[in-house]
Amino acid sequence: MRLQGIKRFHYARDVEEALSLLSSYRGRGALLAGGLDLARTPRVDLEGLIDISGLGLSYVREENGGLRIGATTTLTDILESRPARHYAGGVLVELLQQVASPPLRNQATLGGAVVSAHPWADIPTVLVALGAEVRWADETGEHRAALEELWARPFRQIFREAVLIEIALPPWDGAFAFRRLTRSAYDIALLNCTCGLGIKDGKISWARAALGATPRRGRRLPWLEEFLTGKVPGEELWREIRLKVGAKVEVGTDRRASADWRRAAAGPLVIRTLARAAEKCGRRDG
Ligand SMILES: Cc1cc2nc3c(=O)[nH]c(=O)nc-3n(C[C@H](O)[C@H](O)[C@H](O)COP(=O)(O)OP(=O)(O)OC[C@H]3O[C@@H](n4cnc5c(N)ncnc54)[C@H](O)[C@@H]3O)c2cc1C
Repeated sequence: MRLQGIKRFHYARDVEEALSLLSSYRGRGALLAGGLDLARTPRVDLEGLIDISGLGLSYVREENGGLRIGATTTLTDILESRPARHYAGGVLVELLQQVASPPLRNQATLGGAVVSAHPWADIPTVLVALGAEVRWADETGEHRAALEELWARPFRQIFREAVLIEIALPPWDGAFAFRRLTRSAYDIALLNCTCGLGIKDGKISWARAALGATPRRGRRLPWLEEFLTGKVPGEELWREIRLKVGAKVEVGTDRRASADWRRAAAGPLVIRTLARAAEKCGRRDG
């Protein structure tokens, strides 16, 4: 770890203390959760680190079919929690089993993933598809926003002076699935996808879809969600969607993959994810 300028290390006992310590460093302090990103891309300007593991923000709670997850909850704790296993067709388990490696998941927190919001990451794609809302506190009080809305703001600047408290996931009457394409199991995704479906009387009653690592951060595909609603799920529909996705998807080139490769891969990835969500819905009905 190359955090060489650090002069002081603090354990904050509550959110107020964390905020007051942050403000005392005037931009030269940082909150430390799992430390994965702080270690990977160290900030040379940092003088103080504030450990937030003792704020009481490590929990996974089921509430009216939705979930409330404390910001400092580790990915392993979410993965192993009973409420997460049963939520939205088990999509969080499907996701987190593929994120990084078990030792890293023991350290990494959901809050750290939300604040870092790497464009190549899988977690953002799933959270936007699920319609996550976040709650945070700064010196003016508490705030809430849809995660998509927060990420449209200068959120990294916001979290220089704020503590992310909780991520809330709404209830869904249906199932979500997550799929990604990587070179190897522990590698970063070349493209990732989350789809959710509700199926009523043999037809799709609602649909959610998001594509990420395009190489931009995961975003919803509203045209696809609209197109799917009211249709009969199955091979014929998937074939049609495969072509549409290939034609409409916005992708780019980075050091991991070219735009041409991503365009060719997006259709098959989306229909594989949709088919898995539909299969989970069938299992629930049965
Ligand atoms: C080797 C490696 C592989 C990875 N693979 C994947 C993958 O396959 N898929 C995927 O989706 N992701 C992957 N990630 C990303 C990983 O999920 C994030 O790095 C991790 O979740 C960050 O959490 P953390 O607790 O370690 O954050 P930290 O490093 O502690 O913090 C990150 C940033 O967020 C700030 N912060 C943390 N918590 C809060 C809070 N509560 N309030 C305000 N600010 C806060 C910190 O100050 C810091 O600026 C990978 C990361 C690494 C290093």
